[in-house]
Amino acid sequence: MLRTAGLRVTRPRLAVLDVLKEGGHLEVEEIAARVRSRLTSVSTQAVYDVLGALSRAGLARRIEPAGSPARYEARTGDNHHHVVCRGCGRIADVDCVVGEAPCLDPGETDGFEVDEAEVTFWGLCPDCHALRDDDH
Ligand SMILES: [Zn+2]
Ligand SMILES: [Zn+2]
Ligand SMILES: [Zn+2]
Repeated sequence: MLRTAGLRVTRPRLAVLDVLKEGGHLEVEEIAARVRSRLTSVSTQAVYDVLGALSRAGLARRIEPAGSPARYEARTGDNHHHVVCRGCGRIADVDCVVGEAPCLDPGETDGFEVDEAEVTFWGLCPDCHALRDDDH
């Protein structure tokens, strides 16, 4: 994957990709911790650098829901969206109904050529929903 994307293959890059491929939407600190459990002595800054390179090469996707630190995932290129829990911050994938960007046609764009609509769904995850019901 790295070579196809034109990136040099390095151990930190391989380790970060491995972690991302385990799935989910991970914060940098969590990625760094998991990388360190495989390779010793990888700085958080190095992990940031790798994530930047992977994102630019299209091998990782960076998402940053309001009020949450940036998170990274390996699921790229399918223009999927995210649903974020207002209670605990958990994030899940939601398939794009349209399938490609931009999902929404804004109509009048004042001359801008729109290539993306950033869609984030907000709500309560099943756990938080259950908790809320318990309060009643
Ligand atoms: Zn929740
Ligand atoms: Zn996702
Ligand atoms: Zn969409």
